[in-house]
Amino acid sequence: MSGSCDGPVALVTGAGGGIGKATVVRLLKDGATVVATDRLAASLEPLAGRKNVHTLIGDLCDEHFCDTLPGAVTTLAGRLDLVVNVAGIMRRGDVLTTSDDDWTASMVINVEAPFRICRAAIPLLRDAGGGAIVNVSSCWGLYPGPDHVAYCTSKAALAAMTRCLARDHAPDNIRVNAVCPNEVDTPMLRSGFAARGLDPEHGVEQLSASVPLGRLATPAEIADVISFLVSTEARYVCGACVEINGAKPVY
Ligand code: NAD
Repeated sequence: MSGSCDGPVALVTGAGGGIGKATVVRLLKDGATVVATDRLAASLEPLAGRKNVHTLIGDLCDEHFCDTLPGAVTTLAGRLDLVVNVAGIMRRGDVLTTSDDDWTASMVINVEAPFRICRAAIPLLRDAGGGAIVNVSSCWGLYPGPDHVAYCTSKAALAAMTRCLARDHAPDNIRVNAVCPNEVDTPMLRSGFAARGLDPEHGVEQLSASVPLGRLATPAEIADVISFLVSTEARYVCGACVEINGAKPVY
C-alpha cells in the first residue's frame, strides 16, 4: 500500500475527539497522509495546517456526507488506503430510560455511518489493490455494560459488521478489524461524569482504581493498536476485535 506521496492515505472520522486526534497524530508519525474529519470545525483546528493533513467538516448523520466521504478523500489526497471509523456517541440509559432519539442517534452515528463509509470505501480500496479498515467498537459491544443499552447494542453491531466485512472482503486484500477499548480518558468519558453532576477528575481517579493495570487507557494507547492493525505487521490479522482493557473485565 503506498499513497500518492510515500506513505498511505488514511481517512479518520471523529478526528477532533480524544482517540481520533491521537490516531491522526500516530498515523502521521507512521508516514501517512491523513484526511481528518469531524462535525466540529473547532475540534480540528489543532490538526489544520499540519503537514500531510487535510480536514473535512461534516455531520455523519448526513447520509450524503458519509456516502461521498471516501470519494472526497481521493479527490483531496489522490487515493485511499486506510479507513479508521472512530467517531461515536455514548447515550446513557437502560431500556426504560432510552428515548427514541437516544436509540436512533446511536444507531445512525455508531453503526450506519461506518456502514455507509465502508460501503463507499471498499470499491476504492479494492481498485487500488487492497487496504485496511479499523472500526472503533468497545468492550461494551462484546459484553453488556450497565445502563447503556443503545450504546452497547450499537457497538455490538459494529463488531459484528467488522467480522462480516472482513470475511467478505479478505479476498480483495482488504483487512477489516476493530479495536474494543474499555475506559479511555477522553472528552467522551469526562463529559459523561459532568453530565451526571460528578467531578470528572474524581471520576477518573475512581475508575482508575478499578483497572488491574491501575489506570485508564490514554488515547495514544488506543491509537498505537490502530497503527499496528493498519500496518503490514498485522498483515494476517483480519476480522479481529481486539480488546484493550488493562485486564479490566466489563461488569
Ligand atoms: P470523543 O467524544 O472525544 O470523540 C468523538 C468524536 O466523534 C468527537 O470529536 C465528535 O465531534 C465526533 N462525532 C460525534 N458525532 C458525530 C457526527 N454526527 N458527525 C461527525 N462527527 C461526530 O470520544 P472518544 O472517547 O475519543 O471516542 C472515540 C470512539 O471510541 C467512539 O466511537 C467511542 O464510542 C469509542 N470508545 C471510547 C471509549 C472511552 O472510554 N472513551 C471506550 C470505548 C470505545
